[in-house]
Amino acid sequence: MRLLFGTAGTPISSKGNDSISGIKRVHELGLGCMELEFVRGVKMGERTALAVGKAAKELDIRLSVHAPYYINLNADGETLAKSKERILNSARIGNICGAKSVVIHAGFFQKETRQVVYEKIKKALIEIREKLNSEGVDILLRIETMGRKSQFGSLDDVLEITEIEGVKPCIDFSHLHAVTGKNNSREEFVSILTRVEERLGREGLDNMHIHVSGIEYSEKGEKNHLVFEESDFKYEELVQAFVDFDIKGMVICESPNLEEDALLLKSEYEFLR
Ligand SMILES: [Zn+2]
Repeated sequence: MRLLFGTAGTPISSKGNDSISGIKRVHELGLGCMELEFVRGVKMGERTALAVGKAAKELDIRLSVHAPYYINLNADGETLAKSKERILNSARIGNICGAKSVVIHAGFFQKETRQVVYEKIKKALIEIREKLNSEGVDILLRIETMGRKSQFGSLDDVLEITEIEGVKPCIDFSHLHAVTGKNNSREEFVSILTRVEERLGREGLDNMHIHVSGIEYSEKGEKNHLVFEESDFKYEELVQAFVDFDIKGMVICESPNLEEDALLLKSEYEFLR
């Protein structure tokens, strides 16, 4: 196990827009992983998924999946049913690709208390987990830390929800920064990783899934992603914290220049290590 760096979707400099071209380009660039972006819907079929998995295996590129944005597990009726179906399909196709994680934006707070929302999302995730287990789909559900207070996904939320077997966090450090403007120093990054270790143990640090990018934000939280150079995000200090804790797993770069900032993270990491 190592710490791998990669892109959110196919690198910009890929020959084609498809996932296999992306995997080849990630390999050429010397990066180690890529997240398949199913964010606008799971459009990949099983046959393509098999070919994607084969290409990734041959080139030793680790894959993960990002489930569609249009998901709210704090819902009822059709919205909830469709949200669950989108997660299930992301997991099934991701599993065929050989991905070990599917990243999920779990839902939104409406007027209920945090506890009510938590229980509702927990119930939905347990049902999804049971269905996947019954189908033999061996993939972790990763609940992402989110960039707005209106969304389920504080650090507390994503750590507590790991009480469900097969549910782990996706720590988006840029989102954690954007919510309050804090969480942007080595000390604060260290305290986030300390929280992960307290909850999940060394095993948690050895199997991290991370999102990071430059980010623009207001008092309401996340506005949009930026390249590191145009943002205030202290990525060097974040990478220092990765080294401090010797974490392992995947770091997915979501900056608009994808591979450029991913390579920046990787070279900083290799420099500090
Ligand atoms: Zn996300």
